[in-house]
Amino acid sequence: MPDTLITTPSSAFLGKLRTIVGDKGMVEDAQARAFHETDWRGFTMGRAAAVVKPASVEEVSAVVALCSEHGVKIVPQGGVTGLVGAGVPVRDGDEIVLSLARLNRILDVNPTAYTMTVEAGVVLQTIQETAAAHDRYFPISLGAQGSCMIGGNLSTNAGGATVLHYGNTRAMVLGLEVVLPDGRVWDGLRALKKDNTGYDLKDLFVGAEGTLGVITKAVLKIFPRPKDVATAWLAVPAPKAALELLAGARIAADDNVTSCELVHELGLEGIIKHIPGTQRPLQGRHTWQILMEWSSTRPIPEDGESGMRARMEAYLAGCMEKGLVDDAVIAQNEAQARAFWHIRESHAEAGRHSDPACSFDISVAVEKIPAFIEACNAAAETAVPGIRPRPMGHMGDGNLHYNFSAPVGVKARAEFAPTVKVLDRIVHDMVARFDGSISAEHGIGSIKLLELEHYRSQTELDVMRAIKKALDPKGTMNPGKVIRVDPSEAVREGTLMR
Ligand SMILES: Cc1cc2nc3c(=O)[nH]c(=O)nc-3n(C[C@H](O)[C@H](O)[C@H](O)COP(=O)(O)OP(=O)(O)OC[C@H]3O[C@@H](n4cnc5c(N)ncnc54)[C@H](O)[C@@H]3O)c2cc1C
Repeated sequence: MPDTLITTPSSAFLGKLRTIVGDKGMVEDAQARAFHETDWRGFTMGRAAAVVKPASVEEVSAVVALCSEHGVKIVPQGGVTGLVGAGVPVRDGDEIVLSLARLNRILDVNPTAYTMTVEAGVVLQTIQETAAAHDRYFPISLGAQGSCMIGGNLSTNAGGATVLHYGNTRAMVLGLEVVLPDGRVWDGLRALKKDNTGYDLKDLFVGAEGTLGVITKAVLKIFPRPKDVATAWLAVPAPKAALELLAGARIAADDNVTSCELVHELGLEGIIKHIPGTQRPLQGRHTWQILMEWSSTRPIPEDGESGMRARMEAYLAGCMEKGLVDDAVIAQNEAQARAFWHIRESHAEAGRHSDPACSFDISVAVEKIPAFIEACNAAAETAVPGIRPRPMGHMGDGNLHYNFSAPVGVKARAEFAPTVKVLDRIVHDMVARFDGSISAEHGIGSIKLLELEHYRSQTELDVMRAIKKALDPKGTMNPGKVIRVDPSEAVREGTLMR
């Protein structure tokens, strides 16, 4: 029996935690703790009662069971690179952070079956490198790949640069092991492509942002490694041209367009200014630019003629004649391609150094992107004169990171904050008008919780609440994130600049 049902953990509870994870599993140094309490953009919303790093699924299970018994709330955590305030505490002192960082083993690589089994705390880049060492490929690729962990990628259903061809993280999963909110371990670590035995439980946990359980292991799909890759940086006259260019490219590349990223001149300007070693791929300034990649798993043909680069060159020459492309450069080697990608992946980092700005992670059906940009820019400029829209992102998936820089002269984040609220409504209402999504790939976390309630139908909210209540009846898993079971519960949101 629990000593008492508590909300703020007692010292007796903390002692029990230490017994489970040992001294090595308790993070006590103030600076180390601050890392776990602060989101990637540098905002702290709450304080943790404790930060623990269990070293095995047994320890995770024992910690979660203890918390359930005592009614103590848990924030599961990976690499703390999430962008919606989901992986950090939002309350003051009644949550513990449960970091998966020490569950970091690759358990199995099977190149014949094209699978890899990993623990949740393995860093994404390690998974990519391990696949490459076996002449295989793990396609999930994003700017935070050197520090985000697969458990975090799964829990946010991360997208990134290759969704157009391979799908998002959900599409990479064959099986999961999950510690349920009462501490039981669900072993769903099956490497099956086909399994129609009732509800697909693993899909509940993917994208749940730690609100339904703690993912501890995963069986992932891996793929043949692309060997013939062509990467181009293009200037296009308008988003409509980019759409036409992409539609044709899919045919010209035998449906091997692996990425199609939109870059806005204002965003590029910030990157060149703030990120050392970056330079413009093209001469001059172009409002709309595209980073496009084609990949084939066949080796580069000896004559080069039928290779991806030659085919891309021929296709782009035709597009220039039709006026779909104003200027273009195709990477001549891997280093140049890497440099293009470095620019693309530095958008979020550059944003940390720029004037006040805000960002919306939205999606609409891909063919609606040009009309959406036109309508959204017009509405924002009418409501906030001088606002500087710079939409960019995974255009090939219909996913834009709709960024706005504050009007020239606005230097303080606090001064810009009320405008962000105005833009929230403008952008999200526009998304609703275009039948889109207010979160394409980053999730809901704490900062979009009220927006989710505003835009999802009552039926959808009822179903989500029923799932949450069924799996987590005590409400201990990551409260204040994604969905409130009780709509009158206080919400801590809005302090994060998007
Ligand atoms: C520079 C940069 C670029 C990015 N680019 C992209 C991009 O292109 N596409 C994209 O989709 N996202 C992108 N992101 C955001 C993205 O969500 C994260 O990078 C990543 O998926 C989160 O992983 P993490 O390990 O850091 O998770 P955290 O931030 O630690 O946690 C994220 C969420 O997952 C939960 N969680 C973490 N681990 C577990 C677990 N084992 N079990 C249960 N719940 C868990 C947390 O509670 C939280 O709700 C980017 C972020 C940055 C900083």
